[in-house]
Amino acid sequence: MKYDKDLFVKHLQAMVRVPTVSSADPEKTRVEDFLQLHKVLEESYPLVHKTMTREVIGKCALLYHWKGTGKSNALPLLMTAHQDVVPEGDWSMWKYPPFEAHVDENGILWGRGCTDSKNNIQGYMDALELLIADGFVPDYDLYFAFGYNEEIMGGPGAAGQILQDELKARGIEFGMAIDECGGVAEVDGKLVATIIPCEKGYADYEFYVEEPGGHSAFPPVHTALGKLGYAIWTLENNRMEPILIEPVIREMKARAPFMTGELAELFKDPEANWPRLKELAETDKLVNQMVRTTTAATMASGSAQANILPERASIITNSRILPGQTLEDLEAHFAKVMPEGVKFRLVKGHNPPPISSIDTSGYELIVKIISEMYPGVTFIPSMLAGGTDSRYYSCLTPTKSVYRFTGLMSDANTGGAHAVNEHINTEIMVNNVKFYVELFKNYGK
Ligand SMILES: [Zn+2]
Repeated sequence: MKYDKDLFVKHLQAMVRVPTVSSADPEKTRVEDFLQLHKVLEESYPLVHKTMTREVIGKCALLYHWKGTGKSNALPLLMTAHQDVVPEGDWSMWKYPPFEAHVDENGILWGRGCTDSKNNIQGYMDALELLIADGFVPDYDLYFAFGYNEEIMGGPGAAGQILQDELKARGIEFGMAIDECGGVAEVDGKLVATIIPCEKGYADYEFYVEEPGGHSAFPPVHTALGKLGYAIWTLENNRMEPILIEPVIREMKARAPFMTGELAELFKDPEANWPRLKELAETDKLVNQMVRTTTAATMASGSAQANILPERASIITNSRILPGQTLEDLEAHFAKVMPEGVKFRLVKGHNPPPISSIDTSGYELIVKIISEMYPGVTFIPSMLAGGTDSRYYSCLTPTKSVYRFTGLMSDANTGGAHAVNEHINTEIMVNNVKFYVELFKNYGK
């Protein structure tokens, strides 16, 4: 099989050049840009489009299906990723314009979406295009599902939800679902592969205080905004209790050999060292994130002008919920600690999806392929603090095999997701495609 790096780069460039920026307001989704991206995919991957059925679901989600020979008794394989990208930010801070997809003299491609997650779509598609040219026909059913508002965590009109509803209505279940994130990296000269079987839940809350307002020359002791200041202080000083959950114990143990200092020792046996880890969670951001449902106050608003007392002041917080806990647990905690007069409401959020098992044939297959590609590699099953659209497919995957994993071997010349100057070293793109080729060839055997 001929892996043509230049062709892969050309395909990714064409995708990055379409500015499929997701908007928090579903009404503002620029559907025409997504339709343009669909056209780019059609042009880049003629064999995929001749072989798979392709449907546009909802506004502009894509659902591809290849009915296999049926010789395998494995449930279908789902590959998912998102078409949308976060806003590009300040253009003047970009080395090259964010939607130019410029490749510099060092072979680095610069542009919004080149690592998150258009490279996933490109990897899946290029792998399949090569396999089809080679005469491959899967013995199982293969699906691709690409949403268009992953970056705003879905909200109303979440493409992941629309896709889930559609698949559910058709009675489709998966044997394994693979999404973005994870991958291979070199840590202190050793190869590490991060496969992500679970992720935290997500919630935005508004806390607000309503007051009579009036002239700021006659203020009360505490204005509505002042009361919210105290509410933030209270939240920060009364956090949810830290807890040690099974996947995190596993992750800490796997990470220990790659850490230094005290954490390296503590992570070797997190249960025995729990009292100290709990203490560290007060000050160490990494540990805190691993053992706690977190809440951060991120936005605030008061009155419209400096000399007006706010009639309504509000703050927005962002929480990340540990697997095993729920929005209800979080709200019970808020209700317990909030000072009087401060109300709150959920703006948007979801519970953490179920934790996938790492004791499955799907997980084993990933391990086998990656071990062959990167001899000596160590595997770290991790919890994702962020979120992905893969959460929508857990309920459709009875094998508990939803993994966030990319074939990419990341390096120092790749990064910048969600920041300005997102970039990818084009050298690593070949192995990404290779991983998916092996996955498609060997799944269901
Ligand atoms: Zn992403």
